[in-house]
Amino acid sequence: MFKDQFPFFNNKPEQVYLDSAATTQKHASVVAAVNDYHLHHNATVHRSAYQIANQATALYESSRNSVAKLISAKSSAQIVFSSGATESINTIANGLHKTMLCGSKILILASEHHANLIPWQKVASRFNLKIEIVKLSADGCFTQNEFDQFSKQLTADVAILAMAHVSNALGNIYPVKEVCNTANNLQILTVIDGTQAIAHMPVNVEDIGCDFYVFSGHKMYGPTGVGVLYGKSEHLENLAPFKLGGEMITQVSYTHAEFQPAPLKFEGGTPNVAGVIGLGKACEFLLNNIVSIQQHEKECYTALLEQLEKVSGLRILGNVRDSIGVVSIVLDKHNISDLAPLLYQKHIAVRVGHHCAMPLMDFLQVAGTLRVSLACYTTMGDLDNFMRSLQLSLTVLDEGESGLDEQKDSVNELLPLAQKIKSANGWDNQYRQLLLASKSLKIMPVELRIPDNAVFGCESDLWISVQQNQLSAYSQSKIIRGILAVLIEKATELLRSEGSKNADDAAHNAAAEFDYFDYLTTLKLTPYFSAGRRDGLQNAVCAIKQKLR
Ligand code: PMP
Repeated sequence: MFKDQFPFFNNKPEQVYLDSAATTQKHASVVAAVNDYHLHHNATVHRSAYQIANQATALYESSRNSVAKLISAKSSAQIVFSSGATESINTIANGLHKTMLCGSKILILASEHHANLIPWQKVASRFNLKIEIVKLSADGCFTQNEFDQFSKQLTADVAILAMAHVSNALGNIYPVKEVCNTANNLQILTVIDGTQAIAHMPVNVEDIGCDFYVFSGHKMYGPTGVGVLYGKSEHLENLAPFKLGGEMITQVSYTHAEFQPAPLKFEGGTPNVAGVIGLGKACEFLLNNIVSIQQHEKECYTALLEQLEKVSGLRILGNVRDSIGVVSIVLDKHNISDLAPLLYQKHIAVRVGHHCAMPLMDFLQVAGTLRVSLACYTTMGDLDNFMRSLQLSLTVLDEGESGLDEQKDSVNELLPLAQKIKSANGWDNQYRQLLLASKSLKIMPVELRIPDNAVFGCESDLWISVQQNQLSAYSQSKIIRGILAVLIEKATELLRSEGSKNADDAAHNAAAEFDYFDYLTTLKLTPYFSAGRRDGLQNAVCAIKQKLR
């Protein structure tokens, strides 16, 4: 319905983009406005009076009006431009002072994004406040039960309530209006993270009654590097700016500075003018279309759910019916990070991992989820494509459980794992060989999976140990286990290469100094490395080397 308004898809028609909760594609009007600014009005804002500078300032300030209109703020002076939701929340957290807080607790929802958690940890230690978590059900749902529990936690003792309007990891829509109503009566400062709501539903900050509301441009069809901090006027007045420098002042001497009133006191330095102008266009697009966007996304979401519910061995976390276009999936039998490369190979963009909500994943007792997220440009065709690829991928993974045992007999067992992987023809065969290699890994006993042996930074839990020159490892992901088997095969070969029964110093050195990462690259295994995995495997290589030294 809206797809042809997004030029990205003209260039990449084969791409099935279901990762809009991470970032959305950009609307044509946004791309055009950013270009137009660079081509015709490029000057800085609020500083000069020559023609293009005035034009740039007018465009920039007109975006502020569009944002105010989009969220029904009383005044555009309540709209501060930032680099994104993260900076907006940090601006609030850093700018608070004691007089704005009455109470001894910070209340945070269990599903919060790290951006709406870590800044509050710092505030807690600065003001000696205690962080208290609002719980979800064991499968990530927020129902009447959780709401009742939450209501009991909303007491006069709470100084700050930080919560998302919509969870990025689960898609749960939270009752921000009801909660803010109670919070206001108790003088609790409310910070609502609207990053995952703003592109999917009408947002009215006056109606919600929150003290602050934040979001990012890039998740609402606008540019990256720009975002919004909305605040009630009295709070913006009280909040101290933390980006000090040019543009945010009225008077400066060598020893003293006077600041502009909000919003400019928070916009120190040269702002992202192009980004702000693009964001204004994204707001206009949403203002004109939000009702039909909401309707379209609901239809897509319902169709997707219907299909997913037919797949056995798959569980959807979080509120399933009352949710926005985010579906968070875990598999009973397989690690979702083994599924991801199979989907990527078929041009399906989805997100696998902790979604910047590690404490939530711990709470749900999962390593991560597969998140499918929709936007206005999602089509039923995209969802059919996704479902087809998902079914095919699950078949490959199921075969990894059973069919590969038969295959194992038919391949030449004398070849080292690395050679089998290198000589596998095509991506699918290589993937199968990695699954097969995972079966050769000497599995680390559970009692050795202790913090000393843990390797961090990977998408899946990972442990490595060396005992009497015997390397063992474990990861829940079969693909990671396959890669570890290849690494350990090489290390073991090097340890034995000097011919002595008990590996001598030279062998140890050779094994410790070997470039394992280069080895994986030579085997063409890098397509399996997302940024997260690459970091984790690099750490795994370091752990192997260290333990061998
Ligand atoms: N909050 C939520 C709910 C998010 O989904 C995100 C981005 N994933 C953020 C905050 C942080 O946004 P940004 O990285 O654009 O600052």
